[in-house]
Amino acid sequence: VLILGGRLVDPAQRIDTLRDVRITDVVTEIGEHLEPRPGEEVYDASGCFVAPGFIDMHVHLRVPGEPHKETLETGGTAALRGGFTAVACMPNTKPALDSPENLELLQREMSACCTALPRILPIAAITRERAGKDPCDYAALVERGAVAFSDDGATVADGRVLLDAARKALAMRAPFIVHCESPALAALSNALSESSIVARDVQIIRKSGKAWHFAHLSTRTAVEILRFARAQGVAATAEVTPHHLNFTADSVTLGPAARVNPSLAFETDVRALRDAVRDGTISVFASDHAPHTIEEKYGDKPAPGFTGLEVAIGAYALALPDLSLERFVAMLSCEPARILGIPGGTLAIGTPADITVFNDEPWMVDAAAFASKGKVTPFDGMTLPRKVVATIVGGRILYDARIAA
Ligand SMILES: [Zn+2]
Repeated sequence: VLILGGRLVDPAQRIDTLRDVRITDVVTEIGEHLEPRPGEEVYDASGCFVAPGFIDMHVHLRVPGEPHKETLETGGTAALRGGFTAVACMPNTKPALDSPENLELLQREMSACCTALPRILPIAAITRERAGKDPCDYAALVERGAVAFSDDGATVADGRVLLDAARKALAMRAPFIVHCESPALAALSNALSESSIVARDVQIIRKSGKAWHFAHLSTRTAVEILRFARAQGVAATAEVTPHHLNFTADSVTLGPAARVNPSLAFETDVRALRDAVRDGTISVFASDHAPHTIEEKYGDKPAPGFTGLEVAIGAYALALPDLSLERFVAMLSCEPARILGIPGGTLAIGTPADITVFNDEPWMVDAAAFASKGKVTPFDGMTLPRKVVATIVGGRILYDARIAA
């Protein structure tokens, strides 16, 4: 395929200019005014941005075990529509992805799936059944394809267990991705609950040397602790979600269905999160795509989380209209690729042809039309300023908004 006339934004190569891109399953040529060859498919990207494939490193695909919430087919299609060529999926499944056998359950469904999928990168659990007690067999899980470890949805409450786990996993490049909510303090104060865990973990990082990534930071205090730690040389990274960047507990109109962990916080927190993106303290955008059925969201005990893949890039742009395009793309491509130690994140010659094409055409969110089974999002009905045009994985155009429309 020859992608013509787009503005290529590839922060890893420091490219941000009009360029044509020729691909097979890998990138073969980047240049100006490339001529189509006989038999070559031409994709007209004029008026669009062409970027290394976006990676969402925090997605709940609900596989294995919860097909009423999401399947590989619905979640994979949602990812492609959202511009994601790769998603890392969290292990709070049924059963949890805490053993090579359970990882295989996911991989078997992947091989049996007959629709086109983005690349799916499993995240395995830190502790058995994510119960916070017994560390998993990290070497065996990496062998089976795990790219990171997380007990997401739960926090390992016992710092001693987490320190031992971090030491045990030290030989593996795959980072720990931690959900920061102190079980004892969560009901009392967002800031106290989150920041106490971040502060504790900074010391665990210092003691263990383990690669560390903080999931979905939501409060000013937590961000300030991370900023201070990074200034002291602690190499931890962090991500932020579309909802925490855009909403406070009061600004959202969903009622009890607005429940999410960590909860939506205050205006000062939203401002601090945006500032942390601007100064690089937070270097990754991640959707925390967490689909539930309508009944689960609007029942007596609303399930935490929202569907996120299909609004993500528009929502990031809405929160941070001033963020440079280079930084925007980096937070969705080379930064997550580097943290997870996976290929991609750049369109250098010879790298996989995973490409996201997008533009700055406003569009209105219609959750009922989502590919995801999760139809609840606080962004429903809102107009977002950035839109996915095409998603290309390994040289194949798996989503094309012009055809879909
Ligand atoms: Zn989480």
